[in-house]
Amino acid sequence: MQPACFDPVLIANASPIASGSPSISTAKTEPSADAIDASRTSSVSNSRPDILNENGMSKIKFFKEGISTPPDASPTSRLSGSPVSAYPTYKPGAVQASTPVPPPRMGFSPPSNGTLLQGSPFSGGMSPPPGGASFMMYGGETPGARTPGAYTPMAFTPTGYTPGSYTPGGPVKRANSGYALDASGTNKAHSGTPRKFGAPVASPSSRRRTESKKPSTRIDPEQVPRPVGQPEAIKEEGGKVYETNKYHVPPAATAVCTIIDRGSASCEFIRSTVNQVPAFPSTANTAHVPMAVICQPFAELTAHEAEIPCVDLGEPGPFRCSRCKAYVNPWFTWHNHGKEATCNFCSQRVEVPQEYMCSLDERAQRRDKEERPELNRGSVDYIAPSDYSEAPPVVPATIFVIEVTQRSLQCGLLPQVMWTLRSLLGFMEPPSSKIGILLFDHALHFFAFYPGLDCARQITVSDTEDPFAPCGADALLVDAEDPAYRSQIDTLLDELPGMLCAEDLAEQAAGCAALKAATELVGSRGGGHVVMFHASLPNSGIGALRHRDDIKLASEPEGGGLFNVQQPTFIEEIGNDCLVRGVAVSVFCAPATGIYIDMASLSRIPRRTGGEICFYPGFDPSRDGERLHYDLSRTVVQSSVYSVMFKLRVSKGLAVDSMHATWDPEVIDPSTFAVSRMSVDATVDFTLVHGERIEGQKQAYMQVACLYTSKKGKRLIRVHTLQLPVTSSLSNVFRYTEIDTVTNLLLKQAADSALSGNGSFKDKLTKACVDMLHAYRANCASMTSAGQLILPESLKLLPLYIGSIRKFPAFRAGSDIKVDDRIVSLIRSLGLPLALTSPLVYPRVYTMHPLSEKAGTPTGVGDNVFMPPTVAGSSEKLATDRIYLIDNGISLRLYVRANVDQETLYQVFGAESLQDVAVILSAPEDYVESLSEEAERMLACVQQIRRERWRLPWQSFYVVLPGTPEESRVLASLAEDRAGAESAYVDFLCHVHKLVQNKQD
Ligand SMILES: [Zn+2]
Repeated sequence: MQPACFDPVLIANASPIASGSPSISTAKTEPSADAIDASRTSSVSNSRPDILNENGMSKIKFFKEGISTPPDASPTSRLSGSPVSAYPTYKPGAVQASTPVPPPRMGFSPPSNGTLLQGSPFSGGMSPPPGGASFMMYGGETPGARTPGAYTPMAFTPTGYTPGSYTPGGPVKRANSGYALDASGTNKAHSGTPRKFGAPVASPSSRRRTESKKPSTRIDPEQVPRPVGQPEAIKEEGGKVYETNKYHVPPAATAVCTIIDRGSASCEFIRSTVNQVPAFPSTANTAHVPMAVICQPFAELTAHEAEIPCVDLGEPGPFRCSRCKAYVNPWFTWHNHGKEATCNFCSQRVEVPQEYMCSLDERAQRRDKEERPELNRGSVDYIAPSDYSEAPPVVPATIFVIEVTQRSLQCGLLPQVMWTLRSLLGFMEPPSSKIGILLFDHALHFFAFYPGLDCARQITVSDTEDPFAPCGADALLVDAEDPAYRSQIDTLLDELPGMLCAEDLAEQAAGCAALKAATELVGSRGGGHVVMFHASLPNSGIGALRHRDDIKLASEPEGGGLFNVQQPTFIEEIGNDCLVRGVAVSVFCAPATGIYIDMASLSRIPRRTGGEICFYPGFDPSRDGERLHYDLSRTVVQSSVYSVMFKLRVSKGLAVDSMHATWDPEVIDPSTFAVSRMSVDATVDFTLVHGERIEGQKQAYMQVACLYTSKKGKRLIRVHTLQLPVTSSLSNVFRYTEIDTVTNLLLKQAADSALSGNGSFKDKLTKACVDMLHAYRANCASMTSAGQLILPESLKLLPLYIGSIRKFPAFRAGSDIKVDDRIVSLIRSLGLPLALTSPLVYPRVYTMHPLSEKAGTPTGVGDNVFMPPTVAGSSEKLATDRIYLIDNGISLRLYVRANVDQETLYQVFGAESLQDVAVILSAPEDYVESLSEEAERMLACVQQIRRERWRLPWQSFYVVLPGTPEESRVLASLAEDRAGAESAYVDFLCHVHKLVQNKQD
């Protein structure tokens, strides 16, 4: 790699040199950023004629006539956009792949007017890749994205359960606050001719629209529980207000709401599966409902929620119990004129230090209760006294380590990363804006910044067997918002991609050598973040990874080395060093379609250190650029914390049993761990057990304490305290159980088992479900008739969710899913935030055409619009002449069915063919005069979902057309259908019912 501007200085086999090295040359002035933009513009305009007919007129109704060049070089397409103003806005078309990257995929015939798909007509947010290939594919993005091969919606294979052998049938009725599938229903008429399974009991017209034959059963598939219907509109800014001392069960994790901390921590930070804790071990064992708390201690708060107060008690630090070390909280009780306190966790009576003492009022409350946040709030930050940490904290710095090989340039990864980093300047808040840039091919190329220069100095280290940083961190990591360096960083990011020529670039990538040098550099200054970008397998230098036959690996039985790490000694050493020095590593991997990049090895250090793992197989900037842009922006801008020491404390009688999280931290005991970084999404699940009965207490407590370094370099302690009532009633345990938390835990337990090669997790999932339903049936609904399947109201969706998890492609052995896809999906499941659980497990399906009357129109509250109702996630329920929006929390897919007629396409999108729909929606807004009112309302619904999920990773939006591989994937992601050997929802429900009955007998 030899860019003209950055004269390379080769340092081979030399010892590290100090900053200000003389062996560095200066650079000349280069073309301005405008000149570069202009060249990009021309490439956009070149593709413009594709959408014009022979007369030079637009073939598409809503396009402005006579435009031959785009009015704006950095347009926004209808498919793009983020509601979060903290991140720079993505500009579609700013970056393009220099050569066609994804090879055409099987199974899709280019339309006859193939010119529309040739090239990238708009270089828009999701314009099709060349060659008429599938242009919505975002392979391996989600555990819910089932692969096409395994999806056979028409077939039916009995899986142990014989449809029809199940006696009860008929309507569902509610009983005992539960769901009952009633045996007394008189569906005798159906007994001779079993009702078609899954067929809607809808009007004849809708029956005509459905397309497939179904196996038979006598449960009315219309009546089984499923989370569908009309989403409630947001009625006030910030959503409904909840006070933490008033609710018995917190609002759903997906709800838009405002939580007010009234002493118990917000459910945004900590939630329990059981909102009433069983007093006796026997009650807990009988209920079989897992006791667990799910903690997301650094979750972002909304603009309507009060910030977490920061308490500075100086060197004495926070007041804590002398026995169990719990932090003072609103439920400490006070005695003896305020000289003594009793700990609510262990009942120890402790002396209050002189400086913290306060007199009591007539109700034995401290008179300063209202002034001290730690005595009236569930969540507080403390300034950590100096003896809490071994070394003084440093402001975390970030180094971006980018592959600069042929593949990286050609596929557009390098230009996209450079473009996004450039756009991030100005969005990083000092002092956490300290950054560095390291490029690697067969060598390492560092960039040193010195005040007064026009241009950064490139220093090349060619010794990749023993890599090192060639000068001090002061020159390699500089403040991007400091005017002394800003223009040097600007120039570097702007100009570098344009000066590289693919033919001159190497194919070798010394990625692991770069990782080693970068982690040592960041570690040497006391911690921070290393963000790696790989376009190919790191195949040279120390720690080089070799290609493994992933198809062969996948076909081996579980535990056959599927997820084993290559170079384990090298990787473990770096991982340990990172943990000791407070360094986190994130990876962004963009391999070519179908090419193995060894995510098992590359994700190992990110997992251990709390970094992000982002995966874009077959990366193409026109399709994946926006997603990478927002993933990277979020990784850089969000308020993640560093050098974390985490501890969960629970009331006497309870104990922490196990932990499930993305990272694989240094577990000190099941309740304590250390990790280099926690992001705002970082979620960790702890299971609890009874050590003994919870005696004489009406309340149980859980307290999270996190010692951490903030982005501003402050050492703080975050404390969240949760109070929950104790109950001796089994019915109450069920009544106050929450399905999303239970599902989140069961999913993580399954992912943990799968990653460790334990194949029995599917049976465990089903058993957990059956045990809970049986416990409810036997103890809380014993008066019901034996044939009924009784589901507790709080867990009525459990069989649906468990059945869906069993179908995740990540949980399937076999060659129909790549090893890299599987491991990324499993890790994502392990770290899944609560708010993403239900959309991932049961993707929501909205009917977008015909659009319901109010859908997409303003509600009058903020920017919110009404949403259309959702329908069952089953291919049998999707009419072939409609358009749907499918939301799995990760992407949003506008699914245009095959029989949508020409007139509709023209009326709604101004399109003459199905293919044009994608082209129109990805076109820059400047190209399109206006869309139809219905299309505008559809897009408003998409933005509504993005707005409601602003705290979560950005959701990409694609158009899915019939006959494409992506269609198979969308259909296969529907939670109620069969997938592979896994049965459809209603079958699975019958199967579960049978197992419950067997248990009863
Ligand atoms: Zn205590």
